[in-house]
Amino acid sequence: MVEISVNDVGMVYSRNETVALEGVTLDVEKGEFISLLGPSGCGKTTLLRIIANLLEPTSGTVTVAGGTPEQARKNRKYGIVFQRPVLQSWRTVRKNIELPLEIMHVPPEERRARSDAMLKMIRLRNFVDAYPDELSGGMQQRVGIARALVIEPEILLMDEPFSALDEFTRERLQGDLLSIWQESKKTIVFVTHNIAEAVYLSDRVCVFSPRPGRLSAVVDVKLPRPRPPEIRDTAEFVEYVARVRGSFEGI
Ligand code: ADP
Repeated sequence: MVEISVNDVGMVYSRNETVALEGVTLDVEKGEFISLLGPSGCGKTTLLRIIANLLEPTSGTVTVAGGTPEQARKNRKYGIVFQRPVLQSWRTVRKNIELPLEIMHVPPEERRARSDAMLKMIRLRNFVDAYPDELSGGMQQRVGIARALVIEPEILLMDEPFSALDEFTRERLQGDLLSIWQESKKTIVFVTHNIAEAVYLSDRVCVFSPRPGRLSAVVDVKLPRPRPPEIRDTAEFVEYVARVRGSFEGI
């Protein structure tokens, strides 16, 4: 079943007449993990924002969870995670995770039960009463992921969520994210400019070329799952990285 359908989408920013996207067509299956990969400025974030109904495309159509992006946003069909988790510094970890539920007027007992489940999932139960500035960058981003998932969306949209983290933390969080995905069965659209990250995480890597942003290749990653961290050292993995890198040649 198709969860997100992008049909011939184009985006021109009128302010500077930048053609950010042109003729992008893409279907994402329910439960699929796809990455939007490309160098900076090729329109990945623009496409994610269009899917999230934070931007209107100038041409083409998008369907999300069987309706318009606006319906999907209003019906909380997706959670979104940004490069920086933008946590509220005066609220504890638990209170940050519960924030969307407060906005939805979910009763306190249910909020607590759901934030408890999230804290367990992101392995931060010992930090439930900590404030964001007492956490490492990786822990803060885990709270950001929990806050996006606490509303139990079908879809998780992620915009370079790990790019501000060091290599060790990034790899660990990639593993965490795959466990969460396997457990929660969400559809994930993940924006990155890191080839190995896209290969490690994805079922399919969608390669974008810049100016104007076009979908220039789609690579199916048929590595077995679950994917242990050491899979990055296998010949098969290295081959996929080379294949994706090769798809940029001539761009
Ligand atoms: P990416 O996420 O791949 O780095 P973006 O989607 O952020 O790319 O940007 C694609 C292009 O659109 C870039 O040339 C960028 O400068 C331009 N752009 C992005 N956002 C805006 C905006 N709000 N107004 C005008 N131009 C924009």
